[in-house]
Amino acid sequence: MVDLGAQYERIQKEIDDAVLGTIRSTKFIGGPEVDGFKAELEAYLGVKHVIPCANGTDALQIAMMALGLKPGDEVITPTFTYIATAEVIALLGLTPVLVDVDADTYTIDIAQVEAAITPRTKVIVPVHLYGQCADMERLLALGERHGIHIIEDNAQAIGADYLFSSGKVVMAGTMGIFGCTSFFPSKNLGCYGDGGAIMTNDDEMARIAKMIASHGQSKQYVHDVVGCNSRLDALQAAILRVKLRYLDEYIANRQAVADAYGDAFEKHPRIRIPNQHPRSTHVFHQYTVVLNGIDRDRLRNFLAQNGVPSMIYYPIPLHKQKAFQDTRYDDAAFPVTDMLCDNVLSLPIHTEMDADQLEYIIQKVLEGVAAQ
Ligand SMILES: *Cc1c(COP(=O)(O)O)cnc(C)c1O
Repeated sequence: MVDLGAQYERIQKEIDDAVLGTIRSTKFIGGPEVDGFKAELEAYLGVKHVIPCANGTDALQIAMMALGLKPGDEVITPTFTYIATAEVIALLGLTPVLVDVDADTYTIDIAQVEAAITPRTKVIVPVHLYGQCADMERLLALGERHGIHIIEDNAQAIGADYLFSSGKVVMAGTMGIFGCTSFFPSKNLGCYGDGGAIMTNDDEMARIAKMIASHGQSKQYVHDVVGCNSRLDALQAAILRVKLRYLDEYIANRQAVADAYGDAFEKHPRIRIPNQHPRSTHVFHQYTVVLNGIDRDRLRNFLAQNGVPSMIYYPIPLHKQKAFQDTRYDDAAFPVTDMLCDNVLSLPIHTEMDADQLEYIIQKVLEGVAAQ
């Protein structure tokens, strides 16, 4: 699905120098690489504070801890997402309230969010799924009206931007009280292990989140709150500093692949290409089509036999996971998600794909579909 080997080869010298330099410095925890990456990511995103941490799941957890939520507080999030989003909600003793996604963009459905708000709702967590932003303008207005915070799960859309009706353009992950992202290797800005970050424009929230990520420590050996231990290590920061310089190029490469897939499949009666929200750019963390009347397993087998990987993000929605079995979820309440889980197919998309590979994949997808 991705080609991290070829990507590394193209920047090998810079990466090797960064890694060896860090090893020789013996500054493995914190230090100039972590500080440098933090400052460079802040500049890239145009956000006041980046707090690096150990992974994207921790970023979500720390953001929720920083808001001082109490057990029983409700957090609204889409059921069509990766488990991490809802997992941390439950882990903190909060109540996940799942809603369906929008049929065009597969991001959180704002009307359903509105209907799910109760006096206990404290946070909404939209997920910028597959690489494009949820409908943030409406969501932020809704949050403001009800005094509810927005935490963006931006693990899949770093580098995307969003246009407000005022004409203001802002980066994904910098619109809510917190934005959270992941540097898992296959993400658009991936390191060579685990990593994550929290973004905020709020000075006080930044101070609290930073303290929580570091054992609740305000000064050395002084602990004001119960926190956790969540650090981005210096080797990963050094790698990320190199890769951040290529992020815009990587995004452009992904968009070029998406354009080619779009041209090939756009008019196909049984393949629906991704719809783009007019306010958000799409950085195509995934290129996910929706199949119509096609036996997906059979198509995947055909593709696999021809050396073309494909994935299903996600086969089982949160409301059907055993971990979230909850009588409050009515099985018929999530028709868009249920349809997507049965029909989505993600095709290879990455920064190193060449024209021949792309042509081959397109041809095999069309052949596999035609064979049914
Ligand atoms: C990858 C991902 C996460 C979690 O990131 P990790 O770094 O693996 O903990 C959270 N939410 C979404 C939507 C993701 O895709």
